[in-house]
Amino acid sequence: MTPNAFRTRFAPSPTGYIHLGNIRSALYPWAFARHHGGTFILRIEDTDTERSTDEAVQVILESMDWMGLDYDEGPYYQMQRMSRYREVMQTLVDAGHVYPCYMRQDELDTLRDRQMAAGEKPRYDGRWRPEPGRILPPIPEGVKPVLRFRTPLLGVVSWDDKVKGPVEFRNDELDDLVIARPDGTPTYNFCVVVDDIDMAITHVIRGDDHVNNTPRQIHIFRALGAQPPTYAHLPTVLNEQGEKLSKRSGAKSVLQYREEGYLPDAMVNYLARLGWSHGNDEVFSREQFVAWFDLDHLGRSAAQFDGEKLKWLNGQAIRAMAPEALADATRPFLDRMGLVVQGVRLEDAVVLVRERASTLVEVAGLCAMFYAPPEPAPELVAQHLSPAATVALSDLRARLAALDPWDKPAISAALKETLVAQGLKMPQLAMPLRLLVTGRLQTPSVDAVLALFPRDTVLSRLDPPQP
Ligand code: GLU
Repeated sequence: MTPNAFRTRFAPSPTGYIHLGNIRSALYPWAFARHHGGTFILRIEDTDTERSTDEAVQVILESMDWMGLDYDEGPYYQMQRMSRYREVMQTLVDAGHVYPCYMRQDELDTLRDRQMAAGEKPRYDGRWRPEPGRILPPIPEGVKPVLRFRTPLLGVVSWDDKVKGPVEFRNDELDDLVIARPDGTPTYNFCVVVDDIDMAITHVIRGDDHVNNTPRQIHIFRALGAQPPTYAHLPTVLNEQGEKLSKRSGAKSVLQYREEGYLPDAMVNYLARLGWSHGNDEVFSREQFVAWFDLDHLGRSAAQFDGEKLKWLNGQAIRAMAPEALADATRPFLDRMGLVVQGVRLEDAVVLVRERASTLVEVAGLCAMFYAPPEPAPELVAQHLSPAATVALSDLRARLAALDPWDKPAISAALKETLVAQGLKMPQLAMPLRLLVTGRLQTPSVDAVLALFPRDTVLSRLDPPQP
């Protein structure tokens, strides 16, 4: 098979929110398909009708869209494929790969209790499995059967996992799986296999919570006369406390990171490294990731989430952005603060403040000094506006009023002249100046900040207080 025929999929169940571990299970198959010029498919596994919701589907679509994980086919919805599953089920029935089992729930419970009491693993005992020479129990009245898959009794099932290496299960450890419920609806493992066959999936890259399903799925593939795909089972992602990422253990949803001002490219960079490596490279672009991604460098042990590292990478990405792109990314956050961009070009503001910011929320927070009227706390004004500072500010105001051109070098020169004329040190002037012009004591260098403002704005903020 040529690499450009490689087909991967992300197959989430829309039962809640999605966290970073979940979206990583989309990122890797996406990158693998993109790397090989193959096809990436989105399939929504919504057969658990009690837990699946439309809202959760929307969250998946929005999260993928935000992360820039575009798919070439789908979304397919399993609930829309029921007739196909029934059709394929019939071929298994016809070929004798499945059989009806009439065991009632209370009988299953009794069996289970007995096995547990004997210290055995609970499993179906095969009592309805037809075998040559075996007499089956009489069919009870009023019980609708489930269909069970006839798992080979002997031998092993194995595959060469791209992450875990060779994996093998003994068939006698696998009982006969229910693949259709009494009402005929197919169960999870069966649907996955039919889909993976119909969608011609070549590489299944998914979380290792599915390792135990894989031997069962391989048997179903074979019963359907299909070649199982290549599997890569990704190790779990742990939170900072070492627990599995989950809603209950406090994992944030992917979209929460958007709200907090993370950049999709930084998320991709971070998640790429959370379970895969390219030498010692830590900071790379989406394009580099796609160019480098392979299944041979997936990590074998659980990866631990590190929020500080994600934030650091986000800061790196913010600093690497083109000014226009960073301004565009910041604008919604200013909108959210009710601020209107006017007077100061946002492209200039973001470039000036970004050294101090790790998220877009922080960039917007720093840029706010250009778009919100300054409201310095009265106690700070009292503290910093000494009589000497007041005189110096009026000296500076006069120099600034006459400057030509209005730019950073000229402003810097004016500041120095005032310091000399007034016999002050820089902080004695810069602190009250910052406070009056921006309402803050901490800003990037004050000449650069002033240069961004229109001169009139600066002068009016330095006007002596009206009596
Ligand atoms: N629907 C499964 C899940 O959300 C994924 C199944 C698979 O990738 O095979 O865990």
